[in-house]
Amino acid sequence: MTSLSVLVAGGCGYIGTHMVKALLAAGHRVVTVDNLSTGHRELLPGGRLVEGDIGDPALLERVLAGERFDAAMHFAAAIEVGESVQAPLKYYRNNVAATLTLVEALVRHGVDKLIFSSSAAVYGEPETTPIREDHPCRPTSPYGHTKRMVETILADCARAHGLRSMALRYFNAAGADPSGALGERHHPESHLIPLVLEVAAGRRERIAIFGTRHPTPDGTCVRDYIHVNDLAAAHLLALEALAGGAPSTAYNLGNSRGHSVREVIEAARRVTGRPIPAVEAPPRPGDPAILVAASDKARRELGWRPACETLPAIIASAWKWHGAPRPGEPQFQ
Ligand code: UDP
Repeated sequence: MTSLSVLVAGGCGYIGTHMVKALLAAGHRVVTVDNLSTGHRELLPGGRLVEGDIGDPALLERVLAGERFDAAMHFAAAIEVGESVQAPLKYYRNNVAATLTLVEALVRHGVDKLIFSSSAAVYGEPETTPIREDHPCRPTSPYGHTKRMVETILADCARAHGLRSMALRYFNAAGADPSGALGERHHPESHLIPLVLEVAAGRRERIAIFGTRHPTPDGTCVRDYIHVNDLAAAHLLALEALAGGAPSTAYNLGNSRGHSVREVIEAARRVTGRPIPAVEAPPRPGDPAILVAASDKARRELGWRPACETLPAIIASAWKWHGAPRPGEPQFQ
C-alpha cells in the first residue's frame, strides 16, 4: 500500500502504542493526539505527538489545518464498564461528545477514512454465541452505549458526508509486543490478564475470580482473548480496504475461542511458573457469562489471520512486559 498520513487519536494508550508501531513499520506517517490522561508519552513508538484533547475543537483545527491527513484512527476513550455505570456522564462526554468534535473536524477538513475502536460491549448479553456482527446490539452499560452511539453517528456521516469508517469491535485485547518495550499499563488496572500477571510478579497478593456460578462449564466467565498486535494488523488491513474504496462496515475482532477465568489463571501459572493465589468473589455487575466472537467476516473480507492465537502464547507475551522488573523494584529471585 502507498504511504498514508494517519491521525491517531489516543496513540499513547495500550492499543494505540501497538498501532503506531505497526503503522510506522508499514511505512505510514503518524501524528498522535493524546491528552495523556491514561496514555504514556514515553511508550509512544514514534511519529509526532500533539498533547491535547480530541474534545478541543481549536486544537483539532490547528492539527488538521497544518497537515493533510488521508485517514484517522480513533482509540481515545474511557474503557471501564464498571466505572461507566458509576459515572455515565464522563463516558458520554469523553466517548461521544469528544468523538463528535473529532468527527466534525475530520469532515470539515475532508478526511474521508476513519477506523474506530468499538467493542463487543455493543452487543450486551448475547442471545447466540459465537456472536456475529448482525447480532442485535443492546448494550448493557453506558460504556457499551457510547460505542454503539458512535457507530450510529459514523453510519450517518458516511451517508451524509462521505466519511467512510470501519468500526472494529474488539473482544478481549491482551498480550504485549514481543520486543518487551510496549504493553498494558492502566491505572487502576481492572483487566484479568494484567491483574493475574501482577500477582505472578509479586505486586499483588491474589486474584479475585468474579463469579463462580455463571452458566459456563466451570462456572466462571468465558472471554475471547485476542493479541494486541493481531488487533493492530486488522486495523492495517481495514485501512487498506478503506483506501481501496471499501464501504463503511463493522468487524468483530476475536480468536473465536472462549477461555474461562479459571483457565486464564491456570494458563498463567504454567507460563510463569508461579503459584498465583486466587479467591472466589461475587460476580461483577454487568458481566455477560460468555463473550466469544464469530470473526469469519474479518477473515473473509479483510484477509485477517491472527498470528498469536493461543492463550499460553498471548499470556507469555504479556508476561514479558509484566514480569520485567520496574525501576526501583527488587529483582525477582
Ligand atoms: N475478572 C475477574 N477478576 C478480575 C478481573 C476480571 O474474574 O480481577 C473477570 C471478569 O469478570 C470477566 C473476565 O475476567 O469475566 C475478563 O474481564 P476483563 O475486565 O479483563 O475484560 P471484560 O471482559 O470486562 O472486557
